[in-house]
Amino acid sequence: MSVFSSPSFDHHELVTFTEDTASGLKAIIAVHNSNLGPAVGGCRMYPYANDADALEDVLRLSRGMTYKSALAGLPLGGGKAVIIGDHRKHKSKALLEAMGDFINAQGGKYVTAEDSGTCVDDMKVIGSRTEFVSGVDESQSFGGDPSPFTAYGIYCGMKAALAHKLGSDKLDGIKVAVQGAGAVGRYLSELLIKEGALVFVADINQDNLDRAVELGATQVSVDDIIGLDVDVFAPCAMGAVLNDESIATLKASVVAGGANNQLANVSHGEMLRARGILYAPDFVINAGGIIEIHHQISGTPELSNAHVERIGETLREIFKLSDEQSVSTVAVAEQLAEAKFQKVAEGEVNTDNNFGAAALSAAYTSANHD
Ligand code: NAD
Repeated sequence: MSVFSSPSFDHHELVTFTEDTASGLKAIIAVHNSNLGPAVGGCRMYPYANDADALEDVLRLSRGMTYKSALAGLPLGGGKAVIIGDHRKHKSKALLEAMGDFINAQGGKYVTAEDSGTCVDDMKVIGSRTEFVSGVDESQSFGGDPSPFTAYGIYCGMKAALAHKLGSDKLDGIKVAVQGAGAVGRYLSELLIKEGALVFVADINQDNLDRAVELGATQVSVDDIIGLDVDVFAPCAMGAVLNDESIATLKASVVAGGANNQLANVSHGEMLRARGILYAPDFVINAGGIIEIHHQISGTPELSNAHVERIGETLREIFKLSDEQSVSTVAVAEQLAEAKFQKVAEGEVNTDNNFGAAALSAAYTSANHD
């Protein structure tokens, strides 16, 4: 298993591994870049087929967080953690406490949050061992479940994409295929249905599917969801769903969803453009959760909604530049993000969009990256 030569390594500042035999914890923390601030990103628990898959996932996810926070105008870097194991079988209090110790040992260079396979209650257990955790409880300064904000950002971004592609941001009568009816997919479906969209959902988890159907969505099979004859495909499950095979079957003219790392690789952004499909880059459209976490930590939760709505403006700019320069939306978005976090490395203070930096809490202050 190579690390430095992996394309996903991409100059990571820190990649650290742990194994705690007593609790069964096997985990990796990756910090891609902390030029803009401490690396904040979720802790995913997943039964990876092997260690190489886990490493690849954490590297891609933490890199994505650097780009996401930079483009959302947040004073944060990019990091992520993965726990190797099935959350339904292997998660225990002891394992989460050991994870808390592992995060604490990084001294604040990495701040964790919930992700697929972990939940608010898990963050509370981790939070009993480290202060470097967010999304713990709405009654505490560190906020609650970020999924509704992620869904709201996707909703705003989807409207921007529809306006660009179809000339109107109205959702009434628009057909949307939502892949994955978990936390994000469910909140998103609710927002869309309220405005008259016709929502189709697929999920491997029947309980989650039933909840979405109760909201008014129509159930379709997992195999049919990508190629459904709809206006928008909204991937809200796992990554790499946009690949050679799936892109060829897409009938939607817009892809706008919450899953991280939707493209199997960056060339698929160009493939979507060549097919005339407008792709809202995942790390731009799904930033609502990290924006909310930032405002909770900063003590400015009243600013979250307006900040999340700016995702629509950012996407409008990306779509325009993509058309003007005849390059994929993801290439444009990466260039814009790099300009933000690389400027800081060159000693230039990036003040144009460094949202709320002065309001960062004591937790952030101690989470410096010396
Ligand atoms: P979740 O675990 O609550 O939901 C994911 C859903 O996808 C589950 O219901 C699962 O059964 C389903 N699923 C898995 N494989 C599937 C398949 N092959 N076909 C159809 N459905 C499948 O996770 P979530 O919090 O809703 O996040 C969804 C995605 O969005 C993840 O990729 C996550 O990393 C990303 N994301 C989430 C947030 C957030 O705030 N929760 C923020 C940014 C990005």
